[in-house]
Amino acid sequence: MSGHVHEEHTFSALVGADGEVHCAEVLQRVHVFIDHEIDGASADTIRRHLSDCEPCLDQFDVAEAVKQLVHRCCSGEQAPDALRRKVLQVLGEETEGRGA
Ligand SMILES: [Zn+2]
Repeated sequence: MSGHVHEEHTFSALVGADGEVHCAEVLQRVHVFIDHEIDGASADTIRRHLSDCEPCLDQFDVAEAVKQLVHRCCSGEQAPDALRRKVLQVLGEETEGRGA
């Protein structure tokens, strides 16, 4: 039951052996990237990939928009918990990639 932990900084390779940036890996890092908790090299790779890959940029836009929305709402004492959970769920499904 150890295959589904939330990993902070130990992702699998962002760039594959073939030199290709993997969209799934980029999307896994988008949240960390937004939180500015990712190392410079990875952030650079992600930023470059996002400027180059429309599906990933789309995901990034959603994640960042939500982040800002949540941040704005949280300036009071009420967190939009339902919204946040829903978004995290959607993003989780998008990036999970079940199956082989
Ligand atoms: Zn991509």
